[in-house]
Amino acid sequence: MIIDEPQVRCPFCRGLMPGWMSRYPCKTCTLCERPLFLLPSISSRDHRSVLSAIDVVKIIMLPVMAGATISFAMGRLDVDSYAHIVAGALLTWGIIDVWDGTAGLRTGIDKVRKRIRRGAVARKMSLAKTIFGSASTVLGGLGLLMVR
Ligand SMILES: [Zn+2]
Repeated sequence: MIIDEPQVRCPFCRGLMPGWMSRYPCKTCTLCERPLFLLPSISSRDHRSVLSAIDVVKIIMLPVMAGATISFAMGRLDVDSYAHIVAGALLTWGIIDVWDGTAGLRTGIDKVRKRIRRGAVARKMSLAKTIFGSASTVLGGLGLLMVR
């Protein structure tokens, strides 16, 4: 256990959290309730960096989707495998948007790209994310069930 932790700034809402205060390398932000990862880092001052899990997954998903699309276009991936990847991506993306949206509805903090919004505007965005997220979760789930 680390006792005198320096204050940690949430990478999602930019708010100061009261330290990490968790034995595990992941937890949700005390302010915006988004999932966060604690990673050892050589660049930061205290050798740790906090990452927003939502941002990390979205960053990982882009090259995965691009790679799958290129392989499919080049004929290296058959239709079924490609459909699997697309459905899986929709499902993952949907779950993340629902998490993001419902956390935003509870806390009134929302972020699109680098812009952080608070209050009524944030809640409207979060509601939209929750609705679209649920839709793509259902679509992705159905897709995975249908593709063999
Ligand atoms: Zn936060």
